[in-house]
Amino acid sequence: MSVEFSICSLVSGSSGNSFYVECSEGALLIDAGVSAKKIAENVTAVGGNMDQVDGLVITHGHGDHIQGAGVVSRRYGIPLFMTEGAYATSKQKLGKLAGCRLFRPGGVITAAGLRIHTYPTPHDAADSVALVVERNGARCGVLTDLGHPFPGLEEIIGSLDAVFLESNYDPEMLAHGPYHESLKERIRSPHGHISNSEATSLICAPGNQRLKVAVLSHLSETNNHPRIAQCTLKEKLAQCQLDKKIQVCIAPRHTPSEVVKVARHK
Ligand SMILES: [Zn+2]
Ligand SMILES: [Zn+2]
Repeated sequence: MSVEFSICSLVSGSSGNSFYVECSEGALLIDAGVSAKKIAENVTAVGGNMDQVDGLVITHGHGDHIQGAGVVSRRYGIPLFMTEGAYATSKQKLGKLAGCRLFRPGGVITAAGLRIHTYPTPHDAADSVALVVERNGARCGVLTDLGHPFPGLEEIIGSLDAVFLESNYDPEMLAHGPYHESLKERIRSPHGHISNSEATSLICAPGNQRLKVAVLSHLSETNNHPRIAQCTLKEKLAQCQLDKKIQVCIAPRHTPSEVVKVARHK
């Protein structure tokens, strides 16, 4: 069982999201929702190199995923991979790009020795997608901004060796928190974000035979707490006797997560 690629989040949450993926043939970024400077700093912190990055895959056009994308592209000469919908809604913000390769939601991107499978999601952004990174059968999901646990999502997670999964809010904290009622409605609507308990159910589903690592990601700063998200999941894993099988960690807001080394299991 050999490690095919490594992946970590660089920053995570409503204040900005980005991932770094590296294999023996090159590296990719996924999303760039903070400044190019911060992304480069965090890539260096995990032992990576911006000069190795062959592309930047954009999941959707919300600011917490594209804020630094234009500068990253120009400064490091990195092409963007994005859907037509994401490009149309963000081109003014992005400015001039070193390159732009359009893909259709549901298509596969091949770059840096990796295959990126894309899946349309019911999130409230044009052509929003979730991703599975694959190399020689080893698979890791980058599944955030999901809208709701849509049909097919369980099957995707059942095919993974590792997953970065959105665990955006604690329903109690959201209900009693400071957000305006209309924003609360948006977050828990079928086009918003998924909760700690939804993420927990997805990770503990009986079909996840291969899953070894779950990194809870895209936590809300206001409506969640890393300890609550982690406890919700760990309690359920223990109940299902999966606590020894699946390793759990949290993607921090401003610093890189643990680097997950992805190998094919089973
Ligand atoms: Zn987001
Ligand atoms: Zn979003």
